[in-house]
Amino acid sequence: QKINIAIDGTSGVGKSTIADIVAEKLHMIHLDTGAMYRCVAYYLVSHQVDIHDPDALNQALADIHIRFDHKKVYLNDMDVSKAIRTNEISMATSKVAALEPVRKKMVALQQEIAKEKGYILDGRDICTVVLPDAEVKIFMSASPSARADRRYKEYRSQGIDANYDEILHDIEQRDYQDSHRTIGPLKKADDATEIDTSQMNIQQVVEAILQLIPI
Ligand code: C5P
Repeated sequence: QKINIAIDGTSGVGKSTIADIVAEKLHMIHLDTGAMYRCVAYYLVSHQVDIHDPDALNQALADIHIRFDHKKVYLNDMDVSKAIRTNEISMATSKVAALEPVRKKMVALQQEIAKEKGYILDGRDICTVVLPDAEVKIFMSASPSARADRRYKEYRSQGIDANYDEILHDIEQRDYQDSHRTIGPLKKADDATEIDTSQMNIQQVVEAILQLIPI
């Protein structure tokens, strides 16, 4: 029978990478909910929407259409897959994701998509709010230094100039913002299985998740 898998966790813990691999192995579809919030932030920033003006925010939300196709994300038919990954948008997303109308719209969209099952959703509030009844619920964690270390190495391997202390600072700031907002804060659901990946490689995390799949 078809199931859904819900994965929550902090920034830079590797949820998306892992969800992609597991989805491929199990012939499921990976829905990257962080990318959806990033699209909203990208739209609000690029259209200079005053997020404290409820009418302007609601109008903007009505004008936002997000579509996934072959691992690319389209915002109103424009491929924004790369544009939503900048540091500026990451920080803006964390703020925008705290707004109630934004969360309401995203949660409803995600629930609508996952309704037919066969989806792996990764995010911050999937096990707690979006899919509390998902068949498999996972909370991925890793120490801030382990995450900063991975991100640093990833940048260096791509020839990108990176500053370890800045990366660590950004990670800690996003952790704080994501776990202290009033709606949909990042927290482990009581019945989610925690996987601390600090000392694990990608293959080991994938194996650990596959062990949790009911047969
Ligand atoms: O996972 P990713 O780092 O792409 O998410 C970007 C931001 O989107 C997070 O820092 C968080 O603030 C927000 N987010 C959220 N709820 C989700 C997924 C992401 O609030 N389900």
